[in-house]
Amino acid sequence: MAARRRRKPYRPARPVNRKRPVTATAEAETAPVEVVVERPDKVTISDSINVSELAELINMTGVELVGELFNRGIVTNVNATLDFETAALMLADMEIEAELLEKEPEDAPEDEVSDIPDVEGEMGERGPVVTVMGHVDHGKTTLLDAIRKSNIVAGEAGGITQGIGAYQVEVEGSPITFIDTPGHEAFTAMRARGAQVTDIVVLVVAADDGVMPQTREAIAHAKSAGVPIIVAVNKADLPGANPQRVLTELADAELLVESMGGDVVSVEISALKGEGVDDLLEMIHLTTQIDQPIARLTGPARAAVIETRLDRSVGPVATVLVSAGELRVGDAFVVGLQSGKARSLVDADGNRIKVAAAGRPVEVAGLSAMPRPGDQLAVLDDEKQARQIAEARRLRESREESSVAERLGLEDLARQLTHGAIQQLDLVVKADTDGSVEAVVQAVQALGYELVKPNIVYSGVGAITENDVNLATAAKGVVVAFNVKASPAARGLADQNGVEIRIYQIIYDLINDVDATLKGKIKPVITEVIDGRLEIRGVFRSERALKIIGGLVTEGRLNRGATIRVIRGDETIATGRVDTLRRFADMVNEVTAGYECGLGITVRPKVAEGDIVEAHHEEESLPGS
Ligand code: GDP
Repeated sequence: MAARRRRKPYRPARPVNRKRPVTATAEAETAPVEVVVERPDKVTISDSINVSELAELINMTGVELVGELFNRGIVTNVNATLDFETAALMLADMEIEAELLEKEPEDAPEDEVSDIPDVEGEMGERGPVVTVMGHVDHGKTTLLDAIRKSNIVAGEAGGITQGIGAYQVEVEGSPITFIDTPGHEAFTAMRARGAQVTDIVVLVVAADDGVMPQTREAIAHAKSAGVPIIVAVNKADLPGANPQRVLTELADAELLVESMGGDVVSVEISALKGEGVDDLLEMIHLTTQIDQPIARLTGPARAAVIETRLDRSVGPVATVLVSAGELRVGDAFVVGLQSGKARSLVDADGNRIKVAAAGRPVEVAGLSAMPRPGDQLAVLDDEKQARQIAEARRLRESREESSVAERLGLEDLARQLTHGAIQQLDLVVKADTDGSVEAVVQAVQALGYELVKPNIVYSGVGAITENDVNLATAAKGVVVAFNVKASPAARGLADQNGVEIRIYQIIYDLINDVDATLKGKIKPVITEVIDGRLEIRGVFRSERALKIIGGLVTEGRLNRGATIRVIRGDETIATGRVDTLRRFADMVNEVTAGYECGLGITVRPKVAEGDIVEAHHEEESLPGS
C-alpha cells in the first residue's frame, strides 16, 4: 500500500474575509478571552482524508474536530479517515467549501503480496464446517447442544469437557465440524480477515416467531459468502408453531425452500426435545456429498483462528480450524501478527493429540500473544522464519495503520444522525496487546440493549494517554482499560475533565462493568397502571381543595393516599389524591370493586355526580434487552 502523502497545510491565496470568534477559557480564575481563529473559505481534499489532517487544514486541533464531528452525530477519532462527502458536508456546515483533489496514480492500491510460500501435498476430501446462524432466542445454542449431546462418541470424552469453540460429530462415518459460536458476528469477523471457514450455514428460524431481522441478516451473510443454507425450522413442538408461515416468510426474504419450488433444504426440528436433529445432520451430510469440500491433506498446515482465550497456566491459546495439511505438536507457525510454536494440541473432546488433520478443530498453545479471530495460521520451516514474517507483518501493519483506519461514509453519517432515540455509551478501550484489545472490543460490541448500545470511540494498545482522555472527553465517554496503566498526565487531565478511567486485570470484570453501566444508562420505561375506578354518586362538601364525596368502586380498588384523576366524559378535569376513605363510619385503607364508600379527596376544580375517579400509579421497567 502506498505510503500516506503529507499535505501542506492549506494557506488561502487571498485574505480570509471571515473571522470566527472562538471563546477559549484560559486558567480557572482568568476571564474568558476572545481568540480569533482564522478559517479558510475553501480547501482541496482528496476522496478520503484523515481527521487530524483535515483539522490541520482548517486550523483546528484533531480533538476539536472530533468534537465538531461528534456534535453532528459522527462518532470518530483523530486517526479515522473521512470520505470526501462526509468531510464536505461537515465543512459546508462551517461555511468552508471543499474541492475534490484529483486522484494521483500513487494512491492506487498495490496487490497484496503473500508472504507465505506455496506448498504442495496430496489433495483429498475433508469434512464440512457448519456455522449455525439465526435470530436471537430462536434456539441456536440449544441446537448446538443437542447436536453435541446426540453425537459425542460415548466414553471418549470422559464426561463433560470444556468446549474449545468448535466440535466434531460423525454422521455415517464422516466428520462434520460445528463452529460453537452461534450468530453471525464470528462468521463476519472471520470473513473480514479473509478466512472463509464455513462450508454450510444452518439457519435456525423459530416456528412460533418466524423471519426476524437477524434471520434476514444471516441470509444476506450466507448469500454474500456463497455458502449453502440449510433451514432448521425450530420449536416445532410449540403449540403456536407455524412452520408453513416460516417457509412463506423465507420466500419473501428470497430464500426458497424445496417445498416452495426452490432448492434450499429445510428440516423441522425441536432442538429442545432433540427431535429432527438427526434429520438435520443427515441433510448436512447429503449436502456435503453433493459438494464435497476438498483440501490438501498432507504438508504443513494452514488454519484459521476461530476463538482465543487466555489460559492461566499456558498463556494465550487459540482454537483453530485446520483448513489444509496437518498441524503437529512442535510446528513453528505464524498466525496473523504473531509467531509461535505448537506446544500442545487439544481436540474438541479435551484429548491431547499429536496431529490435527484438515477439517479438524483444535486448540493450540504456544503463542507469544493473542491472535485475532479470523487470523490465518501457517506452519513454516522453523521458528526463525516464523518470527521474521510476523515481525515484517507488524511493521507493515503499523505503517498502514492510518490508511486502514475506519472510513466513515455517508451511510454512517445517516445512521448516526438518526440514532436520536438510541442512547449510547461511548468508550475508549485500551489494553496491553492487540489480541486483548480485540477480545475486549468484541466482547463489548456484543453487549447492548434495544435502547442503549456501547460505542467504541477508539481502541488501541498501550498505556492510557492524554489523547485517550481527550477523546473520551469529546465523546462524553469513559476510558476502560485492561492490564495497562494510565500516565500521571492522563490521570490529571481525566480529573480535570471529569472523565472516568477504569482499569481492570480481568477482562470478564471489565465486560460485566460495562454491561452494568449500560443497564444504568437505560432510561426506565414508565408505564401507567390504573388501579381502580369509582363513579361519584354524591358530592357532600366542596371546599377549595377538599371534596367529600361518595361513590361506587366499579373496577379494581381504591386506596387511601392513591393518586387520582377525575374524568368527565373523555376529559380529565382534575388531578389529586385520596385523603380519607370510609365504609360507613369506619376509616378504611382500601375499598374494592362492587362496594360503595365515602372519601375525602384533594382536588381543586368542582366535581359532580357521574364523574369518574381513577386511581393510578406509575411503574418503571427496563426496556427489552
Ligand atoms: P439462541 O439465542 O438462538 O442461542 O437461543 P437459545 O438456544 O438460547 O434458545 C432460546 C430459548 O428457546 C431457550 O429458552 C430455549 O430453551 C428455547 N428453545 C430452543 N429450542 C427450542 C425448541 O425446540 N422448543 C422449545 N419449546 N423451546 C426451545
